[in-house]
Amino acid sequence: MASPLEPISEIHILWLNAGLSCDGDTIAMTAGSQPSIEDLISGAIPWTPKVHLHNAFLAMENGDEFVKYFTLAVEGKLGPFILVVEGSIPDETNKPDGYWATFGTDPQTGQPIKTCDWIDRLAPQAWAVVASGTCAAYGGIHAMEGNPTGCMGLPDYLGWTWKSKAGIPIVCVPGCPVQPDNMTQTLLELLYAASGYAPMIALDQALRPKTLFSQTVHEGCDRGGYYEQAEFAEEYGSRLCIVKLGCWGPVVQCNVAQRGWMGGIGGCPNVGGICIGCTMPGFPEKFMPFMDQPPGSLLSSSAVMTYGRAIHALRRFTQASLNREPSWRKKPKIPARVPQ
Ligand code: SF4
Ligand code: SF4
Ligand code: SF4
Repeated sequence: MASPLEPISEIHILWLNAGLSCDGDTIAMTAGSQPSIEDLISGAIPWTPKVHLHNAFLAMENGDEFVKYFTLAVEGKLGPFILVVEGSIPDETNKPDGYWATFGTDPQTGQPIKTCDWIDRLAPQAWAVVASGTCAAYGGIHAMEGNPTGCMGLPDYLGWTWKSKAGIPIVCVPGCPVQPDNMTQTLLELLYAASGYAPMIALDQALRPKTLFSQTVHEGCDRGGYYEQAEFAEEYGSRLCIVKLGCWGPVVQCNVAQRGWMGGIGGCPNVGGICIGCTMPGFPEKFMPFMDQPPGSLLSSSAVMTYGRAIHALRRFTQASLNREPSWRKKPKIPARVPQ
């Protein structure tokens, strides 16, 4: 196994989307452009290792032809690899028999192989492990209270202090689904680290890349000016701030309002969708019921109202003045020419 100090020239990405998943993160990632998947795997980006991506949705192979790469990795015959997990991981110990999620078939027994068993065998051999989407990171929608699967995210499954053989913590890229460029950029940064051209990504306490998840939605939202002036929408279809319609942006760490969704366009509140906190470990329960005004914002929006409207009115005076030319530019009228 290569250490972080040994530059890697060729690497596999084993993408396991056989947990409790809707596969939305893979589908979202096809919209990435900074960089695109094609950029990552075609060698178009200098100083990155040669990449072999194995993702069931994007692969040409299927059935045993596809599963063989995962089997080779378990046997230690594939070479360095990054394990990407998409979807939450069920608790296979919480029932007397049966299984919640599987991937491939054991040729010896003819029985399906549990997704958990794949993770147990692959994670200890991986150069790095990445959780793609909120389900894989923190359990997400499938891990809501009362679900029978007892499912969880990778840090709960492997342990929050778990590190790969190369000494790398689990890297979580949450979002439901993950923002496309956040996922491809994280992979790119890991590839740079693998080739020895960059340090390891700095992560926050929830194991998210700090560069992507330090700021709140509110800090990058197109509607922030309306919030500050206490101009709140009462119904959808308005350009005003939508906090009273249920937006949690002021307390949610996500860069979608700045980065957009596809090619820089979109981003939930920018285009009129309330932020429901899908990048946060507390998602979804702590943000429910969706579309109710967040309790904390009752106080903050009331506080803003006390000065926001007055400030807005005063700004109208300033604006009116600024819309007039300075008085010293008023030239005296040119006298009418007297015909000769
Ligand atoms: Fe689907 Fe969202 Fe879970 Fe991704 S995080 S697998 S998009 S439900
Ligand atoms: Fe903040 Fe949401 Fe209003 Fe945007 S729409 S300014 S994120 S509260
Ligand atoms: Fe999720 Fe909110 Fe970010 Fe939209 S803005 S992707 S709802 S965290």
